[in-house]
Amino acid sequence: MLRGHRVAIDRQSGLSYFSTMAKLPIVILPDPILRKPSTPIEQVDAEVRQLADDMLETMYAAPGVGLAAVQVGVPRRLVVIDVADAEDGEKPNPLVLINPKIVDLGSHTRLHEEGCLSIPDFRVEIERPATLTLEYIDREGEARVLHADGLLATAIQHEVDHLDGKLIIDFLSSLRRDMVVRRFKKQARAAS
Ligand code: ZN
Repeated sequence: MLRGHRVAIDRQSGLSYFSTMAKLPIVILPDPILRKPSTPIEQVDAEVRQLADDMLETMYAAPGVGLAAVQVGVPRRLVVIDVADAEDGEKPNPLVLINPKIVDLGSHTRLHEEGCLSIPDFRVEIERPATLTLEYIDREGEARVLHADGLLATAIQHEVDHLDGKLIIDFLSSLRRDMVVRRFKKQARAAS
């Protein structure tokens, strides 16, 4: 998910332990892999941790608040998120979510204008549950439970949607969705 109209987090301040991170190319609409459901990760090994670290690097550089592995062309159930706001003086708070599963959604909703790193220059207001409970495996392979609200709850739902092949344009009417997809197909043709 895209960061709002604000500057990127200053990574220098708190993330130096990710010493070998590499920026990965982000897959853009209408690449069909974005519609592919991602498969669960069986084992949290060095390869998975490296992918997570590279995804964090890619997300911070974008800048974004969330990125799913399928968005860098790897359809596995791995998401990275950091909703910390550097402009408000918040320290980076990277979350690595492996096999994330939303087990409970609150009844109140929250409206947020969402953007997506795979759909550049496009935003849409989406109403989603404002709170949720998430089960996931962390970067060390530990099973964890997270209660989220605010922007974090929105970002988690956005990224978990990616793992199921769902995009923010699916919240539009089919007419508007087709218009957006056509625009991106045209851009892809012009670029190739
Ligand atoms: Zn997205």
